[in-house]
Amino acid sequence: MRIKILGCSGGVGAGLRTTSILIDDDILIDAGTGLGDLALAELRQIRHVFLTHAHLDHVAGLPLFIDAAFDSLVAHPLEIHARVETIEALRAHMFNGIVWPDFSKLPVPSAPVLRFHPIELGARLEVAGRVFRPIDVAHSVPSVGYCVEFADKVFAFSGDTMSNHTLWPVLNDYPKIDVFIVEVSFPNRLQTLARTAGHYCPSSLAVDIDKLTHDPDIWITDADGKNQKQLTVDLGSNFFGLSVSPDGRYTVFVSQSGGPAHIWRMDADGGNPRQLTFGKWEINPVFLPGGQWVSYAELVSGKGVQRRIPIESGTADVLDRADANGGIPRDIVGISPDGQLVAFIPPRDQKTPNKGKQIAIARYDGGDPIRVFDLPAEAAPRRMQWSPDGSALTYIIDSGQAANIWSQPIDGSPPRQLTDFKSSTIHYFAWSRDGKQLAMARGTGTNDIVLISNFR
Ligand SMILES: [Zn+2]
Ligand SMILES: [Zn+2]
Repeated sequence: MRIKILGCSGGVGAGLRTTSILIDDDILIDAGTGLGDLALAELRQIRHVFLTHAHLDHVAGLPLFIDAAFDSLVAHPLEIHARVETIEALRAHMFNGIVWPDFSKLPVPSAPVLRFHPIELGARLEVAGRVFRPIDVAHSVPSVGYCVEFADKVFAFSGDTMSNHTLWPVLNDYPKIDVFIVEVSFPNRLQTLARTAGHYCPSSLAVDIDKLTHDPDIWITDADGKNQKQLTVDLGSNFFGLSVSPDGRYTVFVSQSGGPAHIWRMDADGGNPRQLTFGKWEINPVFLPGGQWVSYAELVSGKGVQRRIPIESGTADVLDRADANGGIPRDIVGISPDGQLVAFIPPRDQKTPNKGKQIAIARYDGGDPIRVFDLPAEAAPRRMQWSPDGSALTYIIDSGQAANIWSQPIDGSPPRQLTDFKSSTIHYFAWSRDGKQLAMARGTGTNDIVLISNFR
């Protein structure tokens, strides 16, 4: 099964195309403006269209496509599969004889060029070996996502949705999902609007992805339209941070919803979001061992101060003064999985002169650095992650041409390149708990999708 993304933006503009996915040569999921890039000969090969919902960015290409391929459709009508409500909307507002001809009755009602087939939620429908399974999702109009099964492969597409309890259990029913595409249409800053419009934003998606029992990889590309930059900031800059409590109860994250970056907490299901910090600019939340405290950096007149705040309630204090041992280094970027070691960016005065980027490891409870590693100038130590077994620090190196993940064993042996991407950047990444897979926020252009695929 071949999957080709013809479009995934929310609107048009140079280089932007709205949602349409080509499965092999003969099936479309959604029929946004992206299908306009297909040659006429390619359009003529399409036999089936599975629609997620009636919104224009998912159906806009349909009327002109049918017109263009009309001659060949006389012999083989186009089969359109959609929810009853979607079909009703298309009949009433698109193929209504006013906006466009009613092609379900042309050229003659007994042999039209398009036929509508209402889908049944959850039921499987086979098209020459490829099985489509529509799943109810939560959008502002009746909407579905699709699981497409072929041989032992599974491709899942969320369509437009916000947080839901219907799609994720279905995904978990499969032993593995090979490719998963899920929307993220709004930046965290517009969280309320995202919920009103029935879309995910990065923080609500981050919570729902936790419902997956698979260990997927995640590529997150930029949001579409005018919000694209902001999503990149949310996900990709040093200001972004996300940490899950050791007991899985809370997620802490950075929100810029009010302008300046602050640390927020929410329940694992996304409920009860609560702002924890109220300073000028706070970033990089990391749960401390035990899960009672969250460390973070507060930027005060250009300088970082490492503080900690109780996750439940209470006031923040300065981390390196508060700790009994007094040895907590500043600028923590991660605590080892066993809570014994801390990785941090050494203060400038402790660095050898003329040295570039470095990352250091010390015991969590104090003392001098055990090791200091020199990193290439292109490395992003602030976004480093401990490997799940605690044996290495992993970080992004972005050559400008392509970003890849590297691993620096803490025993001091030479660093190793883990991924081999030839293009695009990585904004953020995390390890699955079993250490077998990497989740990555990658960006190449202007899209509104997250792609999760089986990395093994
Ligand atoms: Zn929509
Ligand atoms: Zn849409």
